[in-house]
Amino acid sequence: MAKDNELFDIAIMNGRVIDPETDLDGVRNVGVRDGRIETVTEEKIEGRETIDAKGHIVAPGFIDMHHHNICIPFGEKLALRDGVTTPMELEAGVYPVDEFYATVEGKCRANYGATVGTLAVREHILNPEYRTKFAGFFIWDLMADPKDSKASMHWSTDIATPEQINEYERLLEEGLQQGAVGVGHAVGYMVAGCSQQESIIVQKLAAKYERSGFIHARFSGQMPPTSGLLGFLEMMAPQAVYGGGLVFQHMSAQALKDTMAGLEFFDAARENGIQVLGEIYPYNYGASIAGADYLHPDNYQRNMGRDYKDIIEIANLKPLTKERYEELVKTAPFTSIMFYNATEDDVYKGLAHPTTVVGSDAFPYTIAETGEPAEDWNLPFEAVNGHPRGAGTHARMLALVREKKVDIPLSLAVSKMTYMIARYLEDNGVPEMAQKGRIQEGKDADITIFDPKAVQDNATMKNGGLPSTGIPYVLVNGTVVVRDSETVDDVFPGKPVRGPIHLAARAAKAA
Ligand SMILES: [Zn+2]
Repeated sequence: MAKDNELFDIAIMNGRVIDPETDLDGVRNVGVRDGRIETVTEEKIEGRETIDAKGHIVAPGFIDMHHHNICIPFGEKLALRDGVTTPMELEAGVYPVDEFYATVEGKCRANYGATVGTLAVREHILNPEYRTKFAGFFIWDLMADPKDSKASMHWSTDIATPEQINEYERLLEEGLQQGAVGVGHAVGYMVAGCSQQESIIVQKLAAKYERSGFIHARFSGQMPPTSGLLGFLEMMAPQAVYGGGLVFQHMSAQALKDTMAGLEFFDAARENGIQVLGEIYPYNYGASIAGADYLHPDNYQRNMGRDYKDIIEIANLKPLTKERYEELVKTAPFTSIMFYNATEDDVYKGLAHPTTVVGSDAFPYTIAETGEPAEDWNLPFEAVNGHPRGAGTHARMLALVREKKVDIPLSLAVSKMTYMIARYLEDNGVPEMAQKGRIQEGKDADITIFDPKAVQDNATMKNGGLPSTGIPYVLVNGTVVVRDSETVDDVFPGKPVRGPIHLAARAAKAA
């Protein structure tokens, strides 16, 4: 029996450890103590808790840059069951940043991080009635309680005056000084209202603070059909001028048939030292709100080659008709819908491309019976409607690789969900990400243990909240959050992921 000081908190025995940074892919024992990985060894070790990982992969916990359910218990539970230990809201973002981080502290099972988002900032400026009910988490104000928060569509449709654009720049900068991970800019939702000057400001500020823009690019389609990549160029031009990193989220949903051409262009930029990253979710349909401007027939039909029936109302899973679409846009533009976008072929090719990473775009779920947003930890998985990506993205990617639909080595698939993301963020203004995405001595003990033969997504369009299986153990900062394929109640080991907080912001807070 080992002496007490040789006992680890947790000993993970005989698993196949994949560490993409060092190319380790072999059977090892992993000892965890005080939230850190203390040893990765072929020697025998002992722990207060022993996890038998024989036949399983021991991977870094999955990192997801594109998650709209962070710190929302129900959505967080599904993320953990899918092996995600660090979901972050980087696309839509939050505002105010300080308020968000302060409110969720100590209440999250997974790690969490957010950008300062142009959606929320524009709504603050353009709709004086708006009062956040979710500590600045704007997607939840929109989806959950627009009546209460008075959230509107002004952020999307209104054109800002020069004075308002100055204020926009000031508020975004304040967010970065408060430690936002970067600037979230879903300009694809603001085609009617957001000027390119505002897009330039996003990248100028991201560069000034040595962080990234996280982009839902303009157009979501070819507009006209020869211009599928124009939405990327809108951001890459200011990046070429000012610098900073740039992440194009669900890029295949914007590029469609031009997905591979877009990725080639990103790779050429990277060869020139420009930090561009393309992210993809493993589905050929997205989820959004009925009022999303890119679903307007002028774009969705003429440019994306789709029809009303390719938009599915989540509450009843019925395809829309012209009449129903027009009714929703007029009376209930925030209604949750799914919509077909890129082809399966384009999505799988994009996922196999060596430089892309995986992100879920997990979207708020709704309770089927009431239409209320799904927040509660204890809600039955069968009781909700929503896009399956919030439950199944990472297991699905691993299953697609096993089935060779995405024909890449397992270690690369793991890297696309862990190390490649951690490394990108570390290189772009979030230094603490150097502690994540690795199974190495001294790193944070965020660990996902899965069975490569059995790991599977179960969520479907009809049953969007069914958790993934084949992921029996998940650790966040050394605390077991999934044990024997069940989540553990009442542990909150999640820690914030943040950019540097500037002295000016600290001083303002103290005053
Ligand atoms: Zn998006």
